[in-house]
Amino acid sequence: MREQDGNGRDFERRSSGFGNRGNGGPRRSFGPKDWHKAVCSECKKECEVPFKPTEGKPVYCKECFSKRRDR
Ligand SMILES: [Zn+2]
Repeated sequence: MREQDGNGRDFERRSSGFGNRGNGGPRRSFGPKDWHKAVCSECKKECEVPFKPTEGKPVYCKECFSKRRDR
């Protein structure tokens, strides 16, 4: 395998997009630059979301988010 062939950008792009499902754990080794502090609208817990929270829109923590998707 040639993993250090280019500049590793392709690998970073891939790992930040997919591959985050079913891993069962927050992996932030790629950098917290895209994480924003927010307060969950459901349980009012402080959490971090991988997107910029929109004003006026509810933000859910991981737990509440998966709970909502579950139903
Ligand atoms: Zn919550």
